[in-house]
Amino acid sequence: MPLLSRGRIHPEERRPEGRNLPQILDAVGAPISGARLDSDLNSAPDSTPGSELDAAIERSFARRFGRNLSPALNRGSGQGFEPGRPAPRSRLFETCANPRCGSGWLKLWRSRRAPVFEGGWCCSPECMRAQVESALSREFDTRSPAAQVRPHRIPLGLVLLEQGWITRDQLRAALEAQKAAGEGRLGAWLVRRQAASEEQVARALALQWSCPVLGLEFHRPEAMAALLPRLFVEALGALPLRVAAGRILYLGFEDRPDPALAFALERVTGLRVESGVVSAAHFRPARARLLAARYPRSGLVEAANGASLATCILKAVEQARPADARLVRVHGCLWLRLWLRPQLGPTPQPDAIEDLVFSLAGP
Ligand SMILES: [Zn+2]
Repeated sequence: MPLLSRGRIHPEERRPEGRNLPQILDAVGAPISGARLDSDLNSAPDSTPGSELDAAIERSFARRFGRNLSPALNRGSGQGFEPGRPAPRSRLFETCANPRCGSGWLKLWRSRRAPVFEGGWCCSPECMRAQVESALSREFDTRSPAAQVRPHRIPLGLVLLEQGWITRDQLRAALEAQKAAGEGRLGAWLVRRQAASEEQVARALALQWSCPVLGLEFHRPEAMAALLPRLFVEALGALPLRVAAGRILYLGFEDRPDPALAFALERVTGLRVESGVVSAAHFRPARARLLAARYPRSGLVEAANGASLATCILKAVEQARPADARLVRVHGCLWLRLWLRPQLGPTPQPDAIEDLVFSLAGP
């Protein structure tokens, strides 16, 4: 029977003549205090079942390494995720993030340093698959906050009318023109018919969605382009404008904020996202500048079903062996961001990032 198996020491293997944990660690060169660990082990009564013994060992490790040994207590939950400040990990003894990890401690000690997924290191591809599958079920959980974002709004025409910026006749004429053309937004039609200015439409949109009107001060497209895949700028009309005080990201939209994207971006970047409306006159040139900037390497992957989705994600993580990775859902797709190197500031370096956007084919 192996001395260390499944993270437990069997009671019969604690005999004084047998090799105990401090001796094993001495043999592999870990400078742990044998006396301290022994005192914890000895404080447990002889009839101690495995769980109490584990608890004694965990107390000793918590003192030595300043954290819990238990994978269940140490797994990357995604809370307080800060890519810029990776959780300090022991150089000598890693704890697998998979709560159901079956690896013995010796294997953990011997194995790899990467990859890390959602702040948690995994000892094997099997454990990484378990973590990826758990992240996938979390992202597809319909009770998640992202799935429950349902913004309420009042019609734009009504807001403009209430503010006294347009008259009933102007609104009626713009609605008729929009209906006759069968395209275009009401705001654009009001501007085209000179019933309202672009600034007034932006202010009305902000009132409609209860968000601010954002300006383009300090907009640096080259720094902002590393915050999200180019695809989201193109397809979702999101415009990262600036990061204030190293912790607030202002995210601009032309028509309406996208709370699902803002929530995903918050979870990936660790920044608080403040969404707002940018007037059409400012939005279009800023978007063109942003689309021309250099983005992190990215790929679009279509998976046939849930199982192959998990396999694709696992393969990407195992191949890139990132310093960290994060998986979030953005509407109908999943965004996997891989940090090839730890991030040093509030915005990542484009060449230190890889983005993969996954979509599910079929129903
Ligand atoms: Zn493991």
